[in-house]
Amino acid sequence: MTAPLESPIVILGSGLAGYSAARELRKLDKTAPLVVVSRDHAGFYSKPMLSNALASGKTAETLVMKPVEKMIEELGAVVRARTEAARIDTGARSVHCVDGEVFAYRDLVLAVGADPIRLPLAGGGADDVLSVNDLDDYARFAARLEGVQRVAILGGGLIGCEFANDLLARGITPTVIDPAAAALSRLLPPAASAWLQARLEAAGVRFRFGVAAERVDRTQAGHRLTLTDGSTVGADLVLSAIGLRPRIALAQAAGLTVNRGVVADRMLATSAPHVYALGDCAEVEGHSLPFVMPIMQQARALGATLAGTPTALKYPAMPVIVKTPACPTVVCPPPLDAAGAWSVTATDDALEARFEGADGKLLGFALMGAATARRQALAGQVPGLIG
Ligand SMILES: Cc1cc2nc3c(=O)[nH]c(=O)nc-3n(C[C@H](O)[C@H](O)[C@H](O)COP(=O)(O)OP(=O)(O)OC[C@H]3O[C@@H](n4cnc5c(N)ncnc54)[C@H](O)[C@@H]3O)c2cc1C
Repeated sequence: MTAPLESPIVILGSGLAGYSAARELRKLDKTAPLVVVSRDHAGFYSKPMLSNALASGKTAETLVMKPVEKMIEELGAVVRARTEAARIDTGARSVHCVDGEVFAYRDLVLAVGADPIRLPLAGGGADDVLSVNDLDDYARFAARLEGVQRVAILGGGLIGCEFANDLLARGITPTVIDPAAAALSRLLPPAASAWLQARLEAAGVRFRFGVAAERVDRTQAGHRLTLTDGSTVGADLVLSAIGLRPRIALAQAAGLTVNRGVVADRMLATSAPHVYALGDCAEVEGHSLPFVMPIMQQARALGATLAGTPTALKYPAMPVIVKTPACPTVVCPPPLDAAGAWSVTATDDALEARFEGADGKLLGFALMGAATARRQALAGQVPGLIG
């Protein structure tokens, strides 16, 4: 049994991926029936702002740029907020929700995002550890900040460093704990990590590298973290920022091919006919890229495909701006399997790191401080990942 042609395009997820795909579709097709099903409030907000909301004086309420009513109007769509998809029937082309509602689809778009990875921590305070991956999480986090002076952050990657810098705006001392040897170690060469660390430390951030948290206990004064070297860190609040795992369960249960993410090709097509995937849940042509710029490229291609013009994805160079005002940083990481080497030049106020192949071609870069002004110039020299 297949759904009739007049069935709607159904998008699961109202994050940047789901709503960007819907907007791109609407630029080209104003009338195709469209349904967005979302487990959350379905208001539109910019997730990257969650890690600099304190400095910009935003609350969970003011971070919402368009409430669900405005999105319904803008998209000319049915939007089901606080509605969770429980099962996909690719044969019948239908989505079954937890509340019993069933949506037949002409095409289905999976844009269900990713879950924060939880460290297996011992101790009676382990369940108190927060993570911030959506607006509801942020509301909980912000509500808990009242009176807080010390925050322990698990993870010294992009999100951990951004939250650390942002907490300084509230006079809070953050301690970043990471088993790696340096800040943003997966994205930066060691000299650039050290440059970033020095500036964040000068601004008030503390770092503990080469150790991981093993347990979190409640104390009268807040929480005590015990690290793998036996040392302890006191904190009023513990925030975990150790990474994300694409949400693949729905797709997997429906028999779609999954790997780290929901496997999709350059058309954003999954292994099931009429089912597409994009955003943090997707692994497109072997790449899991949980960032805004790849999502925008994916949404543009998929919007055109859904509007009737099959369009393959292209990835130009996609630098990521790290929101650490204490050390302005832009990173354009080289492809994971790229052969080459980093070279770094630094002065007191600028650092430029270049990753070049054996033939001297620029494959990636990191810019810090005054050097961030060279972002466009360098991005123009780096080949795209797909395209
Ligand atoms: C704190 C933070 C800061 C960031 N900063 C940057 C940055 O500076 N630059 C950058 O490029 N990237 C940044 N990122 C990454 C970027 O924000 C994400 O890649 C992007 O927002 C992911 O969008 P998404 O729509 O794929 O996922 P999400 O925004 O997570 O949306 C997933 C949607 O799916 C819904 N959903 C899940 N399961 C179901 C279900 N079963 N049924 C129905 N709905 C479901 C959810 O409710 C949600 O609406 C940051 C991420 C975080 C967490």
